[in-house]
Amino acid sequence: MRYKRIVLKLSGGAISGKYESGFDPIAIDYIADEILAVYNKGVQIGITMGGGNIFRGHLCTQWGIERAEADNIGMMGTIINSLMMRGVLTARSEGKVEVRVMTAIPVNTVAEPYIRLRAINHLEKGYIVIFAAGIGNPYVTTDYPGVQRTLEVRAEAIFFAKHKTNGIFTDDPNKNPNAKLYRRVNYNTVVHQDLDALDQSAVILARDNNLPIHVFDFDQKGSMARVLEGEDVGTVILQTSEDVIEE
Ligand code: UDP
Repeated sequence: MRYKRIVLKLSGGAISGKYESGFDPIAIDYIADEILAVYNKGVQIGITMGGGNIFRGHLCTQWGIERAEADNIGMMGTIINSLMMRGVLTARSEGKVEVRVMTAIPVNTVAEPYIRLRAINHLEKGYIVIFAAGIGNPYVTTDYPGVQRTLEVRAEAIFFAKHKTNGIFTDDPNKNPNAKLYRRVNYNTVVHQDLDALDQSAVILARDNNLPIHVFDFDQKGSMARVLEGEDVGTVILQTSEDVIEE
């Protein structure tokens, strides 16, 4: 295995599957099985949960509410998703895997508060740890908190599981049919070209701490396991002297 400890950033779109919003039970079972397959190979896994299937803060103008309030709603959405994921991972592993939700916004009767050293302890004991409520503050999405938690718990890489996007492209593949996939790309290329797959703040935080970012299509079964086995799946963003584009 390429890494011993990783954090997976799961977006709300993965949870809603074929629906625009809410939950798709087939998609959630699939996600849980993909995670458990990697867990069973001995990898320690943290999960940063998104909430876009419930609400996103940038929709504030559409609803005529303040951004900070809209972000609160988004963060609460990530907690709901985290509980769902805990429930399904527990069920799919027949209770054999201990799954903990640690939240940046306290909801003490349903989840633990996020405490960094305790999270590391859980991971070392082989628990799957789900990070809910991002960093507990508005004006960010869960991309930046994903990188922050990865660094805090000393994981070796962050995995951005995408829905029908196989990585970082030279241009938007939906608009430009000549867009090509980067196999390896420098953090600064992603930032300077404003490549639109992850939040720039997340890429910059990873760059400044030399944390590899893997971006791949989660819908391709086994993709996370293949990245961990060392295969070139999707894109890796790292400190490279040369960007490598797929021919
Ligand atoms: N959010 C926030 N602070 C955080 C993490 C999330 O305010 O630390 C809010 C923000 O409004 C965001 C929403 O929660 O839009 C849901 O997260 P995100 O958009 O990242 O979900 P995803 O796109 O991954 O489904």
